[in-house]
Amino acid sequence: MATDIQTMREKICELGRLLFDRKLTDAFGGNISARVGKHILITPRYAGAQFNWQLKPEQIIVATADGKKLEGSDEMSRESRAHFRLYEDFPKGNGIVHGHARNILAFCAAGVPIPPILEANFPLGEIGFCEFGPAITNELAESIVKALHKKEDALADLAACVMAPWHGIFALAQTVDDAYNAVELIDNAAYIILMSSGLSQLSTHASGWVERTALLKEELAKYGKPTE
Ligand SMILES: [Zn+2]
Repeated sequence: MATDIQTMREKICELGRLLFDRKLTDAFGGNISARVGKHILITPRYAGAQFNWQLKPEQIIVATADGKKLEGSDEMSRESRAHFRLYEDFPKGNGIVHGHARNILAFCAAGVPIPPILEANFPLGEIGFCEFGPAITNELAESIVKALHKKEDALADLAACVMAPWHGIFALAQTVDDAYNAVELIDNAAYIILMSSGLSQLSTHASGWVERTALLKEELAKYGKPTE
């Protein structure tokens, strides 16, 4: 097994532990993948439910670009269809993180987009929704692909991300580290919006996210910074 593939298998295990520990996914679902040359590496089925995201490198599946398993001690994630389709359509995408992130799920359940309320989130733009498709179906995979084609600029900057209604977040980036980073940034924004909603009695700023985001955009523009 090539060294770069072994190193990536170890990295995916580490990111999986972080994703679970930081409540960026739950025991029920979530998956991580990366492209290394002509190979796709992806987490196994039931990574949370059976293994509590304490994965070993040999459990990470190594597959061909068209989804044929070459190595790995377990079955590949049930959501792998979406991953392979994204790699097929986005040659620049080399890492994908899908998580049932605790704070993002509140927005998924309510059908509310997440605005980029912090400077660090601006490259990601507003995080909206793809069309509904049941989990692990072709319909969901195609819906995610379609939605992320509208986020090509965000992919060039950091990551292209979309929420699946009532389900979770999908992040596609040029590296798997950036895909993880994007999920954490979006969950931070979701957490801040949720937590500060109780501050609205103290300050009108706390609930005026649209105005606050527009103000941040204006401030950045003064420095010639692109905003979305
Ligand atoms: Zn899921």
